[in-house]
Amino acid sequence: MTRKALSATAWVFAIAAIGLGAAHALIAENFSSVPAVVCMAIALLGYAIGATTNKAPVPVSLITAITGLVLIAARVIEDNADTPHSLVPESLFLASQVLIVLGLVFIIRRRLIGQAGNVLADGLIVGIGAWLVVWVYLVQPSLGATGNSATFTTIRSITLGVAMIVLFLLATLLFSQTVPSPANAFVGIAIALTLSGLILRAVVFRGDVSFSAATLDAPLLMAIALAGAGFAHPAIRHIAATGSHTVVPALMTRLLTTTSSLVAPIIVLAIDKPANTQDTTVRTITVCILVAVVMSRVVQSVRLNATTQDQLVRNALTDSLTGLPNRVLMLQHIETAMRSSWKTHVQPTVLFIDVDRFKNINDSLGHSIGDDVLTEVSRRLTSAVPAHATVARIAGDEFVVLDATTETVTQSVLLAEQVLDSLRSPIKTRDGDMFVTASIGVAYAPTSVELSANELMRHADTAMYRAKNAGRNCIALFDDSMLDNVTKRLDVETALYRALERNELHLVHQPIVDIDLGLVVGFEALMRWDRGQAQVVSPDEFIPIAEETGIIVPLGSWAINDALTQLRSWIDAGHCSPSTTMSVNVSVRQLHDPQFVTVVTEALASSGIPAGQLWLEVTESVMITEPTQALAALHRLHGLGVRIAIDDFGTGYSSLSLLQRFPIQCIKIDRAFVNDVVAEAATQNIVRTIIAMATAMGAEIVAEGVENTEQLHQLLSLECHRAQGYLFSRPVHVDDVPRVVKFLEDPNHWREITGRN
Ligand code: C2E
Ligand code: MG
Ligand code: MG
Repeated sequence: MTRKALSATAWVFAIAAIGLGAAHALIAENFSSVPAVVCMAIALLGYAIGATTNKAPVPVSLITAITGLVLIAARVIEDNADTPHSLVPESLFLASQVLIVLGLVFIIRRRLIGQAGNVLADGLIVGIGAWLVVWVYLVQPSLGATGNSATFTTIRSITLGVAMIVLFLLATLLFSQTVPSPANAFVGIAIALTLSGLILRAVVFRGDVSFSAATLDAPLLMAIALAGAGFAHPAIRHIAATGSHTVVPALMTRLLTTTSSLVAPIIVLAIDKPANTQDTTVRTITVCILVAVVMSRVVQSVRLNATTQDQLVRNALTDSLTGLPNRVLMLQHIETAMRSSWKTHVQPTVLFIDVDRFKNINDSLGHSIGDDVLTEVSRRLTSAVPAHATVARIAGDEFVVLDATTETVTQSVLLAEQVLDSLRSPIKTRDGDMFVTASIGVAYAPTSVELSANELMRHADTAMYRAKNAGRNCIALFDDSMLDNVTKRLDVETALYRALERNELHLVHQPIVDIDLGLVVGFEALMRWDRGQAQVVSPDEFIPIAEETGIIVPLGSWAINDALTQLRSWIDAGHCSPSTTMSVNVSVRQLHDPQFVTVVTEALASSGIPAGQLWLEVTESVMITEPTQALAALHRLHGLGVRIAIDDFGTGYSSLSLLQRFPIQCIKIDRAFVNDVVAEAATQNIVRTIIAMATAMGAEIVAEGVENTEQLHQLLSLECHRAQGYLFSRPVHVDDVPRVVKFLEDPNHWREITGRN
């Protein structure tokens, strides 16, 4: 049978159970009426389906089946007994309750893993509350009634007592986390019906009201058949399981049930005076137990509240990955350390630790390995520093250490060295061993000036940047000049954004000379930033910032346009030959700009300079960082006829294999080599090799930074034909270019410069 069919059958059984129970109450003479027999048949069928198809847990099936049989036996024996209140059926009723208790305990133990405490307490409140009412109205009066044997009344009161335990367990289940299912509901209602059947019997027994035997049987019959319906439902298999997605019963239901279980006994106690000492004793004991349970429940609640509160605060102040304090908590620690330090000699140390190239680890190996690395780093940091020091993780790969007891700078630096040392051994990850380094900024609270915790942490952060710039895997100690640098940089950054529109930028030009012929063959355009008030900023200072911020893209475009326009006007005016070239420096960042090739094309078109006369100078870094993207742009430019030069050659780390893949037509030998080319034989060899390589590649050679005639002669003897440098001319203003060209190309002056006759 499919699940759907089974579930439908269960519902039919359940509805039939109620209907048949009601029919029995109305028409039956005794327990063996037709509806009663059908009820039993349903139960039998239900259990059979439950045990075979639905795979109900065996203990639960057994207990339920036996309970059903015991209840039926109790009633059948009672019907056939000679005396109205015989002991056997009464004992069987008691047995049925004990069995239900066993079954419920089995289920509850499975379901309440880890969250038993408050649920059990709530169930207990319901059970005890109900017991008090049952005692006052049912048990106690029957104890005093004449005509019953003492054993009979005792058994009955025990049965009612156990029934209250059933009620307590049932309530506990209701309050616990479960996945609601018809199977659970049917079985739960069946148990509740059994309970009400027993209580109804006890009420009749008191003699206040009277019902026919059939009416009294109705709840029991319904219970037996309903349990069968429950077992016919496929969800019965999970009756003892904690659901994977659990549903907490509505807090309101729980609150209402427990409160009414508390209020009911109070009302009962208030309106009903104790009959005798025994009554008083039972009432007192019950009330005492109830109070104890309620109190423990309250204490438990308060404690739970406190832990939740604690947990919330802890979550807000700690990092979830490493369990270390977070930025907020660390600032509090620093604040406290600094506040208590002023009266002593101590100068609390703050280390700002940034894991080097952590982004690479994350990007290449995935975030879970990244997390492992961070956890291991946090573990190493914690064990590297003294026990009284605090370690915090304040952001992704940034950690901060505070030692509030340091007294000298040496101690601060030693602490940082310990931290750096702790990272030296490889970190084991699922992907193999990995070496991790860090850059550490060290700052300590000065005794003379008052700083805030935030400022001290920022000082350490600033020093950390210095350590990064110094090549990583090292320590930098904060000093005040660093702050000046930071402020200065920020100032440059903001001003640079406006420099272009304020016309603060201009190009200067340095001639590139054919040293064999003494002719100016080209110019290199170099950018200058005039911030006014005779403040000229060197490109070494602002180009790196422009590159980092991306402003280099518009600045670079402007430079190409301006340089070509300028060259056009010199050629047109006859100041230089029509084949003169213009070299413009280009940053990697510009090559990554999708518009760059268009910018160059348009500049060439508007100036009318042939593409072959534009040299774009790129440094070796272009081959190292994301070479494929840059390569694509360079190939397109090369396709246009534009020529590419490698600037500052020999200072980068480009490999020959990479060099081969780039469309290079010129190599510019870096100033550093030219500087040493006269005095050092090794440098001469390097320059010779570079020239040989360039010749093999079919590329031209330009020597940069030629400052004296010795260098010039050495280069000439090494077969280098082109050069630029202060020996010929410094980079000059556009207005000075015609004069400089004239001067350089004058044979008399040329002889003077080169020292040759
Ligand atoms: P670079 O492209 O290698 O430019 C040559 C640098 O050497 C220039 O410095 C120039 O003034 C200097 N120089 C030339 N001859 C001599 C010499 O005989 N002795 C000495 N000591 N120095 C000499 P500058 O103008 O300060 O430019 C520095 C760097 O800034 C350039 O190096 C270039 O990489 C960058 N740069 C300049 N303008 C631009 C530009 O428009 N765009 C880009 N992306 N970078 C530029
Ligand atoms: Mg250059
Ligand atoms: Mg250069």
